[in-house]
Parts: sequence; C-alpha cells; structure tokens
Amino acid sequence: MPSVAIFGAGPSGCYVAQALAKARPDADITIFDALPVPYGLVRYGVAADHQGTKGVIRQFERLFERQGIGFQGHVTLGRDVTLDAVRAAYDAVVLATGLSRDRRLGIPGEDLVGVHGSGAVTRAWNGFPGAEAPRMGRRVVVIGNGNVAIDLVRLLAKGASELHGSDILIEPGAGVQDITIVGRSPAEVAKFDPVMLKELARLEGCAITVSDLTGEGKVIEALDSLHGHAPAGSTKRLCFRFGLVPDRILGTERVEGVAFADGTVIAADTVLTAIGFDGEPGWSASDDGLLAPGLYAAGWVRRGPRGTIPENRTDAQAIAARIAADLPEGPGKPGLVMPGATDYAGWQRIDAAERAAAPEGRVRAKITDHARMLTLARQTGER
Ligand SMILES: Cc1cc2nc3c(=O)[nH]c(=O)nc-3n(C[C@H](O)[C@H](O)[C@H](O)COP(=O)(O)OP(=O)(O)OC[C@H]3O[C@@H](n4cnc5c(N)ncnc54)[C@H](O)[C@@H]3O)c2cc1C
Repeated sequence: MPSVAIFGAGPSGCYVAQALAKARPDADITIFDALPVPYGLVRYGVAADHQGTKGVIRQFERLFERQGIGFQGHVTLGRDVTLDAVRAAYDAVVLATGLSRDRRLGIPGEDLVGVHGSGAVTRAWNGFPGAEAPRMGRRVVVIGNGNVAIDLVRLLAKGASELHGSDILIEPGAGVQDITIVGRSPAEVAKFDPVMLKELARLEGCAITVSDLTGEGKVIEALDSLHGHAPAGSTKRLCFRFGLVPDRILGTERVEGVAFADGTVIAADTVLTAIGFDGEPGWSASDDGLLAPGLYAAGWVRRGPRGTIPENRTDAQAIAARIAADLPEGPGKPGLVMPGATDYAGWQRIDAAERAAAPEGRVRAKITDHARMLTLARQTGER
C-alpha cells in the first residue's frame, strides 16, 4: 500500500489525514509530531476557557482510534530525522508543522523584562512543557486588535471561579487591576469577532469602558454595548483604546509603560503583544500544497500564520485531493518506525492521567514536565 507521512499533528495535519483516509483508504498514513501529544495549537494555543473550540479534538481522535492512522510522537523533523530520509521512506510527505513565533513590534524597549508575545503567554497558560507563565503585576497593556488579544484580556479579567470548566490551573489575572487593550487603527477596522466581544459582557468582576469609538458596523455595535458594563463589586477595569500607534516601551530594567506616537503614555507592569505570528514558510507552495514531487505543505506552514481551525480544513481537503491523485497504486515505500517514538496509546495514558488529576472545576491538569510525559507515554500495560 502507498505510504504517507504527515509531520505536525495540529489541525492541518489531522485534517489532511482525515480527507486522505477517505479519498485513498488503501494508503498507510502516519502522523508524526515533535511532542508526545498531538493536536498542536488546539491544545497549546486556543484559550483554556474555550473548551468548545478544543472539542474539535474529538473529531481527530477518530482518526487514530477508528481509521487506522498511526501516530509517532517525540519525533522532530530536522533533528531526529532528515527530510531526505523521510522522502526516501514514504510515497508522500506532508509538512504541517505550523508557524507560531510571535511577531515583533519593532520598537525600542521591546526586549525589556515584562514584555511578552501572545504566543509565548498562551503556550504557558495552556501548560506547554517547560513554559512558565509570567507574573502580570497590577497594570497590563495588551497591544493588538484581533481575537487572540481578546483571549488575553478575557483570561486576565476573569476571577478563579469564572475559569470553571476550563483546563487552566493558574489564575492568569491574579492581582491584575487595570487592563488596557490598544489598537493602532480606528475601532471600525479592528479584527475582533463580535461574538468574542459579546462574551466579555459576561465578565463578573470587571468594569469595561470603550474610548475613541468611531464608525459603524457589527464590531462597533458590540463595543458600544460593552461600554459601561460594570458588575457590582468589580475589582478590575478593562479599557479599550483605538488609534494609538506604539512608539516605545518605557522602562529601564523592566517595563514601566508604553509611549504612543501622539504623546499618550499608559503606565504598565506588563505589556502583552498580540499582533500576529511570524515566520515565512520558506517556499511558495501552490494552492494544492505541492512543493516538489511527493512533497506537500499544509496549514499555517503553507499559507503563513493566519486563519482559524476551520480554514485549515478547507485547505487540507484540496491538498489531500492532490495527494490522492499523485499516490501510486499498489505497494509503496515501506515507511519508518522511529526509535524512541511514542505512540497514540502513550498519548491516551497522558490524557487519562491529566483527566484523573483535574482539580475541582477543571477538566484536566495538564502535565507540563516533558520527562514525565515521556515516562507516561512509554509505560506499558505490564507496569
Ligand atoms: C494563541 C492562539 C489562539 C488561537 N485560537 C483559535 C481559536 O480560538 N479558534 C480557531 O479556530 N483558531 C484559533 N487559532 C488558530 C489555530 O490554532 C490555527 O489555525 C491552527 O492551529 C493552525 O494549524 P496547523 O496544524 O497549521 O499548526 P499547529 O496547530 O501549530 O500545529 C503544528 C504541529 O507541528 C508540530 N511540529 C512543529 N515543528 C515540528 C517538527 N520539526 N517536527 C515534528 N513536528 C513539528 C507542533 O508540535 C504542532 O503539533 C489560535 C492560534 C493561536 C496561536
């Protein structure tokens, strides 16, 4: 049977496997990931209090549990195995390794202690192995006008009881009193999803004000309806500001504030940037993902670091159709079993241990120690 290796078990890799398994049931498909756990940014990017969004994992589980897709974890392409070796062993190789390095503001002061990118912070809040959640202090400025910025302010604005049903063990906004979310453009062009804004109206201990509101449209309506939200006994304040272009991060050793081009200064103990992600794919793949014969790219690593989980699905279907057409009939290349790789049963043991350790009000307690993950993944039934 023809063999397919997909590198990256995030949504793109999983969606490619899903569509390909349907189009070519004769193919032997294995998904590899650098981590012993699958699902990429669904596990380590999507906000911990949006378990509904993370629920897409249930769809992906079927791939491994019912559709015969293999999983080899703890295998990093480029470190544990070269692309040439993989291409020699598989009829088709798909790169779905994502791109989630934080984009930089490119202004002075950005490297001060207390300035963090949203990718790093959301990874830490999501329990990425070895990532430590930064202390926030009292005043936080969030720079950015997209949905990841809203994830940050919502999690900072929530008290411990509002995190019930999530899988976050810390309270990211403990001690935070003032949150300012700033966009360089007018409110009218902010890239917020109005549904995400409306969710802020359910905050139980945070008063909201919206300044510099001009224009019209659904985002403006949603922002306008948030203005004045003031639950009794609020201990936190969230302020939306627009049309402020960051000029400098102020401070000597650690951040003390942000200066904007028009002279406005906002004091801050922490600055979080949420202005998107970085990294160029390093190639120009066609719309069907073809890079070279038998080599394809999918998802963020193909298109650049933009777009939601469902957008990767559409993308993956086109790529899978192309691979299905290119794959040979009959016996194919033998594939690889990587020494030291973990398997899907290993992930299930990690998953079960995390669920079993969940404290009251949380759905799991993520294991953040890489060595412990590996030990669990490698335990056999006999132990
Ligand atoms: C903070 C944040 C919040 C988000 N929130 C939402 C949301 O609420 N709703 C929504 O629809 N979308 C959301 N997104 C977008 C969504 O996460 C992406 O669209 C999607 O995850 C991209 O999928 P991907 O498979 O291309 O990449 P990823 O999800 O990044 O998956 C890439 C995988 O490749 C693995 N990998 C990387 N390098 C290697 C290597 N060398 N060898 C082997 N494996 C490797 C990684 O471990 C990872 O598992 C969010 C994104 C971020 C960053």
